[in-house]
Amino acid sequence: MIGRFFILAIIWIGQIHSVHALTFYTVVIDAGHGGKDGGCAWNGLVEKKICLDTALRLERALRAKGLRVIMTRRSDTFIDLEDRARLANRYSKAVFVSIHFNASKERSCSGMEVFYRSAKGKELAASILKKMNNNLKGINRGLSHNVFKVLTKTLMPAVLIECAYLSNLTEARRCANPVYRQELAESIAAGVLASKS
Ligand SMILES: [Zn+2]
Repeated sequence: MIGRFFILAIIWIGQIHSVHALTFYTVVIDAGHGGKDGGCAWNGLVEKKICLDTALRLERALRAKGLRVIMTRRSDTFIDLEDRARLANRYSKAVFVSIHFNASKERSCSGMEVFYRSAKGKELAASILKKMNNNLKGINRGLSHNVFKVLTKTLMPAVLIECAYLSNLTEARRCANPVYRQELAESIAAGVLASKS
């Protein structure tokens, strides 16, 4: 019995430590696509525009909480994926959050999904997805490991969020609404803040 108690205690302590595990002062926000790269286009929405709008809302939400925020783009410009990572890597004590929206020919497909590559990226991803799942409508597709270039080339904890499916009519209608995009940005901001030590 004592052995079991110690194991449970260690697991419990481990969970407490994992709640506020990341040390950072800067958030690099990466609005997906831009310029000649529009991303996906469905139901009257173009991904690059929705990404930028959500990213700018996220910037305001994080700045309001006193965090330093760096944007990989603030306008409709094309930026190479490697250049996005290179910009982010200039900052130490930082995390990287890339904002995207998904699409599928299977139009019933819907939901939010957060991608990570490293263990610390996974902690950030879990914290963000938890807040998104609690605060927003939509299916939780979970966390996934992936080797997207912005995740492999960045040196800090990094995530790529597929916020919703623009190919799904219900989700596209939500995303077309600025009120929903504000809730989305605030949920992501809450997740970023909850991961901070
Ligand atoms: Zn995208």
